[in-house]
Amino acid sequence: MTGTIRHPTPRGIDTEIVTAGRHPAEQHGFVNPPVYRGSTVLYPDLATFDKRAMPYPYGRMGSPTTDSLEQAVTALEGGAGTVLAASGLSAIAIALQSVLGAGDHLLVTDSCYQPTRKFCTGVLARFGVAVDYYDPRIGAGIEALLRPATKAIFLESPGSQTFEIQDIPAIVGVARKRDLVTLIDNTWATPLFLKPLALGVDISIHAATKYIGGHSDVMLGTVTANARMWPQVRETWSLLGECAGPDVAWLGQRGIRTLAVRLARQMEAGIELARWLEGRPEVERVLHPALPSHPDHALWRRDFTGASSLFSIVLKPGPKAALAAFIDGLELFGLGASWGGYESLVLPFDPRGYRVATRWEAEGPAIRIHVGLEAMADLVADLEAAFARWRAAGGGA
Ligand SMILES: *Cc1c(COP(=O)(O)O)cnc(C)c1O
Repeated sequence: MTGTIRHPTPRGIDTEIVTAGRHPAEQHGFVNPPVYRGSTVLYPDLATFDKRAMPYPYGRMGSPTTDSLEQAVTALEGGAGTVLAASGLSAIAIALQSVLGAGDHLLVTDSCYQPTRKFCTGVLARFGVAVDYYDPRIGAGIEALLRPATKAIFLESPGSQTFEIQDIPAIVGVARKRDLVTLIDNTWATPLFLKPLALGVDISIHAATKYIGGHSDVMLGTVTANARMWPQVRETWSLLGECAGPDVAWLGQRGIRTLAVRLARQMEAGIELARWLEGRPEVERVLHPALPSHPDHALWRRDFTGASSLFSIVLKPGPKAALAAFIDGLELFGLGASWGGYESLVLPFDPRGYRVATRWEAEGPAIRIHVGLEAMADLVADLEAAFARWRAAGGGA
């Protein structure tokens, strides 16, 4: 541990993770909820049907299985309510559609998850929403980008792949003056390490596919709203016919129970590996907000209570063949999208093709790293061998 990290999981949060959304007494004492697989819900009589007076009127509207995860995330995020979606991207789409309509203008951080940008371009634009991208480090300067039609600001902190930390209170301050809605993709921090609603953000979104599921075996999303936005989010979710399947929701509620212990370990491992990488001659830069070398480290320390185990490195310049040699021989780090499971991953990336408000300047190739639960010595050995292959194939050091 670095000594600069505040305790990641105050005791109250650990307890909340274990207890929130669990109702054993209603389930014959069983610790976990059953998987309710159902479409039709039978009503006892016409009077009940006329009033739709059943706790779960139809399969799409949820069940005790989906309630369990929704309630847990609501408690951890400090929201008024949570809806589940079929994926993280679907959760982002629901959240944006809850807020925006034809003629509105939306500001999106240039560091957003790339499919978020594609949803804005490919769907929102077709429905008459104008979208502009802003520098993630803009802070209160975002005021200059507001138009009369501006309705909402979308944040993601740290940024996907590039890990810029946003000044959330400064942006929320500007939004509040104009009664704008703020939304954040909070996937990296998990509901443990950042409390966006407490900072004044209206809607917090998670790709529960990542750390909440925690085992690389589900696609799942959550949208949590404060009291101001909850009725609109819940209504839009229901009108869109969005729902997560019962088995997936069940895996999500199981995964979240061990979130604190996985994240404590993965935070520590991520920081340890990031520091080791910082000392490597082949590495030009490490982009990890918990390292003092990160340009936004102070903001991270101010607003976050911990770090998950996803960060990036920029290598010294080297040919493509050296990058291939680095990656192709890895034994423990898998090559693949997504993250948040128990296993380590790498993903090369190059934001130059899609950034519009900021320029990505990198000396050499960039690689995103997810640190899983393997032994640190084995991960280091895997990377040491990768750096040897990189150098042998002409990579810089
Ligand atoms: C993966 C990811 C998503 C999308 O989640 P899916 O479940 O894969 O659709 C959204 N935001 C961020 C930051 C992500 O990394």
